Amino acid sequence: MGVPTLGCDCAVCTSADPHDARLRPSVAVRWAGAGGSRRTVVIDTGPDFRQQALRHKITAVDAVFYTHNHADHILGMDDLRPLSYEAFRRGGNIPLYADETTAETLTRIYDYTFAPGATYPNRARVELRPIAPRTPVHEAEFVSIPVLHGEQAIHGFRFGNAAYLTDVSAIPESSFGLLTGLETLVLPALRHTPHPSHASLEQAVGWAKRIGAKQTWFTHIAHELGHEETNRMLPDGMALAHDGLEVPILLDANQFDGNDMSGADA
Ligand SMILES: [Zn+2]
Ligand SMILES: [Zn+2]
Ligand SMILES: [Zn+2]
Repeated sequence: MGVPTLGCDCAVCTSADPHDARLRPSVAVRWAGAGGSRRTVVIDTGPDFRQQALRHKITAVDAVFYTHNHADHILGMDDLRPLSYEAFRRGGNIPLYADETTAETLTRIYDYTFAPGATYPNRARVELRPIAPRTPVHEAEFVSIPVLHGEQAIHGFRFGNAAYLTDVSAIPESSFGLLTGLETLVLPALRHTPHPSHASLEQAVGWAKRIGAKQTWFTHIAHELGHEETNRMLPDGMALAHDGLEVPILLDANQFDGNDMSGADA
C-alpha cells in the first residue's frame, strides 16, 4: 500500500523519520556496459515508477522483468512511454519479461498497447517476452527464482551476486539451490503477524539465515514495521531496506551451484 497508508494515523504513518516513507517496491539494476554505455534493468514498474525514475535519474531502460501481475508491481508500465520512444529510435522496443499470467493482465489493462493491430500512436514501444530460466540482457544475466505468493507461482530474480524476491509466502526447496553464494539478498517482510500470501518478518529472517547472504535487506514493508525500532531487533547482516537505498553488486558472478538449472543458457 505504501507508507503512510491512506487513512491511517498510526505512529509509523505519521513518523518524522524519512525512512518510514515507503513507495511501492521496485528495484533498478544499473551498470556500465560495453563502450561506457549505461545499462538499466528495472524489476517491476509499480504505480510509483514515474516518481522513482525521476528521483533516481533513470533516463533509459534496457529491459523490465515482472515478478507478478498485482497492481503494486505493474501499474507504472505506461510511464515507460517516453523512455521507450528513445529505445524505439535506436531500433527496438523495450522488452518486458513477464510470465503468462502477468502478460495476460498487462495485455488486458493496456489493450491500446498490446492488442494485435493497436494503432494508438502514443503507445509504449514495448514487447512482452516470456521469462526463461536465464535471460541475458547485454553483459548481465537474470536468473528466474520460482517462488510462491499464496497460491500463485511468481518470480524472483538473481543477477550476479544479488537476488531480489518480493511478495513471497513460500520458497520451494529447488529454489534455495539458486540462492547460494549471495552477497546481497532482498526478501519481503510485510509485518510481524502471519499473512496468507506474504512472509512475516520472522519467516523472512528464517529464510535469510538459511540462505546466508552476506547482507539481507527486507522490502515490501507495511506500516506495522517502524524502520528504526525494527532494525534494532534484527540480527547482524539483516536490515529493513528503504526508498533510495543503493547497494553495489557484482554482475559477473553467476557462478553458483544451481541444482535446478534445466534449460539454462537456452
Ligand atoms: Zn499506519
Ligand atoms: Zn502481490
Ligand atoms: Zn506486492
